[in-house]
Amino acid sequence: MSDSRQSEVAVLGAGVSGIYQIKRLVDLGIDAVVLEAENDLGGTWHRNRYPGCRFDSESYTYGYSFSKELLDEWHWKERFSSQPENLRYLNYVADKFDLRRHMRFNKRVERMAWDESEHRWHLSLADGDTHTARFVVTSLGPLSAATLPAYPGMDEFEGPSFHTFFWPNEPVELAGKRVGVIGTGATGIQVIGEIADKVSELKVFQRRPNWSTPLNNSPISESEMDAIRDRYDEIFANCAASPQGFEHVPRWGFWDMTAAERRELWDELYTRSGFAILAGNFAEIFVDEAANREMSEYIADRIRQRVHDPAVAEKLIPTDHGFGLQRLPLETDYFEAYNRPNVELVDLSQTPIERLTATGIQTADRHYDLDLIVYATGFDAITGAFDRVDIRGVDGTSLGEKWRDGPSTYCGLLSHGFPNMAMVAGPQSVSGSTNFPRAIEGGVDWVTGLLEYLREHGYSRVEAQPEAEQEWVDEVMRFHERLLFRRSKGWFTGYNSNVAGHEEGNVRYQAYFGGATRYTAKVTELAANGYPGLTMA
Ligand code: NAP
Repeated sequence: MSDSRQSEVAVLGAGVSGIYQIKRLVDLGIDAVVLEAENDLGGTWHRNRYPGCRFDSESYTYGYSFSKELLDEWHWKERFSSQPENLRYLNYVADKFDLRRHMRFNKRVERMAWDESEHRWHLSLADGDTHTARFVVTSLGPLSAATLPAYPGMDEFEGPSFHTFFWPNEPVELAGKRVGVIGTGATGIQVIGEIADKVSELKVFQRRPNWSTPLNNSPISESEMDAIRDRYDEIFANCAASPQGFEHVPRWGFWDMTAAERRELWDELYTRSGFAILAGNFAEIFVDEAANREMSEYIADRIRQRVHDPAVAEKLIPTDHGFGLQRLPLETDYFEAYNRPNVELVDLSQTPIERLTATGIQTADRHYDLDLIVYATGFDAITGAFDRVDIRGVDGTSLGEKWRDGPSTYCGLLSHGFPNMAMVAGPQSVSGSTNFPRAIEGGVDWVTGLLEYLREHGYSRVEAQPEAEQEWVDEVMRFHERLLFRRSKGWFTGYNSNVAGHEEGNVRYQAYFGGATRYTAKVTELAANGYPGLTMA
């Protein structure tokens, strides 16, 4: 029997954003429910269970900052916490604040239609249920629409095969297995480093290499955790002051140093943790081709030092984009994996995959016999999760149609024609390009502030004005054009060879690259000034 319910607010997704969003709404006494497609909470940390999956933000900068009690209670065990621990953390938060009772699982929203006469959204769920809500807050996640390649014969392979996003919950036997991994993005690089010494053979199918630098993970002892707790105010203040939401702070002055001094600095950054070498580096490497070239050459030398076979090392060095111009994967023993006798790099740029067979992968020059195939082939990023819901706004306009050539939003938070739909971690916000929880806490607080404002003023409808939206799109494009990112093929700029309309050459202005500090200042000012650019009724 189908069920029909209603609430003032429906939050879509029970991941990192949805959990905090429902906490804020419940605290305000707003009638709200989370609809989650999966059978449990956790979002990205519920789904991605592949070996090696872990933060690449320092754990203590990733946790929620909103509760001192929570900060005092939780002990991060590693500087870069692993997926099982991260999922435990999110469950701990939900249980501590009794949030589960506001969540409904296995509730995939398939369609959302705006009703102008009632100022309400009507939601149709995959299980036949319906839900009506005055406001919808999307917290769908920027990387939740996994994409597979389309090779002939994919369904003929007789062994297990899955996308990393759908790595099974039950243990997967790796010992003694011949495993193929397709894809060398941040995910593939984590998997490969982790499983290389656990499988009998590992074939890595690489189309384009990625720059990658050491994660430099380490355990966090009780006393170190105490010191971190004492420093939490400072840590979050540092993150708020950094464009990428980390404690690492970029610097200008590339050309004020000698080449030897720069190398000395990079030697130090290479041994520091996480994104230090990216977010704590010279800002010039993102805008100045000569600076970027020198930096790239430094990292290339590091790869040459770590990979014994010079021919393999060269194949692992990107030549189509400079260091830091696609999302930087962080690695643990990744390059050393290629020194193992059981690991082979298959260069798809030389010998492309022709098809899959019952027993493995056929490339242009030979067949690889495999027991297990892992697709680490990425996501229809940022807008993909929206495209998977049929969202119909004013006069039945389709959001998918509106965003066909790329999203158009008011600060990544609302979109004209789709009233009462607020986005946390939406397209053209900073959530995709910064330390995620730092960005979404700001996003959730902003959306919650807007809902409070509407309630206080008795408004039942809010919509972005087209002119204000265009101003933001122009701002997004301005920063895009300023950065060397613009020429790279990565999900930041909407590239995905497996999704129609996202192939090479179709630039989509999906993310705001002006930095979190500038973004926060902008949206805070809008709220303080009574939300110019929004029409309320
Ligand atoms: P990705 O960066 O988009 O990488 C996908 C990989 O699959 C690329 O190497 C791509 O090759 C390859 N590929 C795609 N289609 C293919 C095809 N048809 N044939 C052969 N190869 C193909 O995806 P991802 O590695 O899943 O990472 C996505 C994002 O998730 C990351 O950038 C990061 O933001 C996030 N992530 C975060 C963490 C963390 O926080 N710890 C960990 C993992 C991932 P091309 O480069 O040639 O397209």
